[in-house]
Amino acid sequence: MFQEKLLNKDTEATRLFALLEELYPICRSITGDGVRKTLRILQEYVPLDIHELPTGTEVFDWTIPKEWNIQEAWIKNSNGDKLIDFRRSNLHVLNYSIPVDKVMALSELKEHLHTLPDQPDLIPHKTSYFKEQWGFCLTHNQFIDLEEGNYHVFIDSTLEDGHMTYGELLIKGTTSDEVLISTHVCHPSLCNDNLSGISVAVHLAQYLLKKQDLRYSYRFLFIPATIGSIAWLAQNEKNVDDIKHGLVLSCLGDRGDTMTYKRSRKGNASIDKLVEQMLDDSDQAYEIREFLPYGYDERQFCSPGFVLPVGLFMRTPFGEFPEYHTSADNLNFIDAEALGESLSMLKKVVYRIEHNRSYQNLKPKGEPNLGKRGLYKLIGGKTDVEISQMAILWVLNLSDGKHSLLDIARRSGITFQAIKQAADALEHANLLKLLS
Ligand code: ZN
Repeated sequence: MFQEKLLNKDTEATRLFALLEELYPICRSITGDGVRKTLRILQEYVPLDIHELPTGTEVFDWTIPKEWNIQEAWIKNSNGDKLIDFRRSNLHVLNYSIPVDKVMALSELKEHLHTLPDQPDLIPHKTSYFKEQWGFCLTHNQFIDLEEGNYHVFIDSTLEDGHMTYGELLIKGTTSDEVLISTHVCHPSLCNDNLSGISVAVHLAQYLLKKQDLRYSYRFLFIPATIGSIAWLAQNEKNVDDIKHGLVLSCLGDRGDTMTYKRSRKGNASIDKLVEQMLDDSDQAYEIREFLPYGYDERQFCSPGFVLPVGLFMRTPFGEFPEYHTSADNLNFIDAEALGESLSMLKKVVYRIEHNRSYQNLKPKGEPNLGKRGLYKLIGGKTDVEISQMAILWVLNLSDGKHSLLDIARRSGITFQAIKQAADALEHANLLKLLS
């Protein structure tokens, strides 16, 4: 395998990829044992709670659907040859198919077959959550090879009252202000969308669990898309004001070298500025997209009854890579290093969230005498002298209680880290007082 050299090493990137490998074979959906099994595996990494909401529960304008489970599915020709088999790829079954066991002519069978004529080697990912029907997905090449005759179609599935399952983890900081990290867990064997988001979220949670001094509390959601976020919002409506920043994570393992950030509905929420500052600071190629009410669960978090400050963080956007929602979104499509890079960028976002404070200049009348405090030309002789000195002057000038460190970084064009370092030095010299 092309990643063999890399995977022999125990790095964060290889650990991120190993979790994808573990989760890839599982057939997930918006309900059922696939999600449960996935969440139980995640519990080996982080202590998340698994919630079960019964079928029929009303959540705003929606109802928790029947639970779907599947054991087996195939299509046999009249010779008894299995032409299509769920065991070879769980994408072969229209997700949420009702059971069927019937012999039928090709013409009737074709009404239940889904293919991608423009990508004839790939199996599409199709679902039918809210309309009871059955179907198979296959490559277009398999489809055109089907000969006239009778076929035996068999789907051993159940669609009955049960539960919708989701995972939640709250990592408590020193304040009740929360950062929401949400990712969807309802896709079967598809890697970039969205085992990549799951793995990056789990490893970010592991990283935060080791931190002792978090200011914010971090709430992680591992939920089925749409119905999961709507259900979570319905159950937690009273607490959402605690959410000060939020990110939906998806498509974080492809080889695209341009990061994509889709702004929250507000467009100028702190999280929007913090993510953009991180991307600016890291010399990363990136693209900022304005909010639109289409996409992942950010559209529920940003619905008009909530308008939470939640953006969407991705590499190549969903729907814009040809492998999207096909059997080609597999382990080979994923670059372990890209996963690691995505995680490391999110750690930098957390750094900015945690350290974006406001200060008061305690000597605001004229510039304070930096020389006598050892703060003039702090790092003599190096090329970053100017920046460091400029960072100190900017922090002093704008620390009037109205500007955060992020505001100062944005206005000065200096990196957030340099601004933070300057603030630390000035606070140490009793020239700044922490406000909030
Ligand atoms: Zn998807």
